[in-house]
Amino acid sequence: MKPPSETHVVIAGAGLVGALLACQLGKRGYRVTLCERRPDPRAAGFVGGRSINLALSCRGITALRRVGLDDTVLASSIRMPGRMLHDEKGNLTFQAYSSNPEDAIRSISRSDLNLILLDAADKNTNVEIRFESRCVGADLNAPSIELETPTGHETITGDYVFGCDGAFSTVRGAMQVTDRFNYQQSYLDHGYKELLIPPAAECGVDASLHDGFAMDPHALHIWPRGHYMMIALPNDDRTFTCTLFWPFEGPNSFAELAPDGPVRDYFDEHFPDASRLMPTLEYDYANNPIGSLVTVRCSPWQRHARTLLLGDAAHAIVPFYGQGMNAGFEDCRLFDETIEQVEGDLSVAIERFAESRVPAANAIADLALENFVEMRDSVADPLFLLRKRVEHTLHRLDAECYMPLYNLVSFSNMPYDEARIVGGRVVRLAQCIAGSLQQDGETGLDDEALQARVVAILDHMEGST
Ligand SMILES: Cc1cc2nc3c(=O)[nH]c(=O)nc-3n(C[C@H](O)[C@H](O)[C@H](O)COP(=O)(O)OP(=O)(O)OC[C@H]3O[C@@H](n4cnc5c(N)ncnc54)[C@H](O)[C@@H]3O)c2cc1C
Repeated sequence: MKPPSETHVVIAGAGLVGALLACQLGKRGYRVTLCERRPDPRAAGFVGGRSINLALSCRGITALRRVGLDDTVLASSIRMPGRMLHDEKGNLTFQAYSSNPEDAIRSISRSDLNLILLDAADKNTNVEIRFESRCVGADLNAPSIELETPTGHETITGDYVFGCDGAFSTVRGAMQVTDRFNYQQSYLDHGYKELLIPPAAECGVDASLHDGFAMDPHALHIWPRGHYMMIALPNDDRTFTCTLFWPFEGPNSFAELAPDGPVRDYFDEHFPDASRLMPTLEYDYANNPIGSLVTVRCSPWQRHARTLLLGDAAHAIVPFYGQGMNAGFEDCRLFDETIEQVEGDLSVAIERFAESRVPAANAIADLALENFVEMRDSVADPLFLLRKRVEHTLHRLDAECYMPLYNLVSFSNMPYDEARIVGGRVVRLAQCIAGSLQQDGETGLDDEALQARVVAILDHMEGST
């Protein structure tokens, strides 16, 4: 086994996951070449790209802490301890994510986060970043990647190659044509379009109400509308990025509302309170692209113990649990821990990590798909709201025993597949209790009375088992 200083690792893709992986491996002393198809965003400004902000939660923060970047990232993030639901009349309901007021997800700018990670990678003398270097092929036997650069084609061979080149990974493409590689890709019928709510002063709202924001910045705003929805996350420039999740075709769809169609009328009818805060709506709707939403599952994530996929390249998921990046960061943290466990034998670490992580990735892919229904539809259902209150009551009664699924996914590092089983039990229990409360006409209890009833029902259940 060569020492890290003589081991050359090549990473394709300097997005969120590739840049974090470069920081980790550089810190361990490996010689890292990080290859990114885009120009250096620090010189060129962010070009293209997808959603403008992201929800960062426990798993992502834990991984950032490992490379000492958690405080820097958290300093430019905005706490969101719950959801703010907007109904069709513009009435608001706040739903805390947890019974513990300390628990919150964070809104962070994708570009700021990428810049922090690139800067950190760049500061490490073991890491060389090559921009405008598009990976156009990979030889899994060498292992090497072929780059297309402004000066021509070039092959870079490493001791190891890491594919962090996103959902449409070229490195994965090379694996897909090898024997016994499993691959599944599916698109949602819904796409997304980003729209803008500017600072309060620019949309006629009293700026003193929300510290210059047009709405409360300490919430993830949702306009649930049954088979579609819009969400909004705050940015630190006091704007909100709204994302409209809409079917591509059919009634209420991107196909129905053409870019030059009656956009303002539509929004006035379906999202009246948001429409008032969107002075550039018509322009944004006409000019911002429609993105598609894909789930990618594959295995094995490694070849010859020399090439490994991480992040979206291995497991692209839909964004409805806010976990794609968090899961990719968790990949990096777990891979780093595995390297430690196997005393630096990268080949063994690659095999062990690739095998152990797939069930967790499949679980969060499923959970993310299921959460779309919850966000766009169930959150407005009174029985769902009662179930959530019961979940929080159970959590307050015994946080160890009754950790709800959302908390396990967003506020813990429990493997997703385990979280799904453990948290699923709490969901079912809360559903059962909420059902009996509804049957007994006890849906309007205050917190104290609800807790007393939940304790009584639990005692009764225990007595009858
Ligand atoms: C609308 C939307 C909202 C989302 N919201 C959240 C959220 O709130 N929370 C969350 O955790 N996740 C969220 N996600 C998911 C998150 O964006 C991804 O999981 C995350 O970006 C994955 O990081 P990555 O580095 O693996 O891939 P990417 O971010 O796609 O980065 C890949 C990088 O590789 C580069 N690249 C691609 N191909 C090549 C090539 N051939 N050669 C060289 N370089 C290449 C790209 O330019 C890019 O820099 C959201 C996704 C979407 C679409």
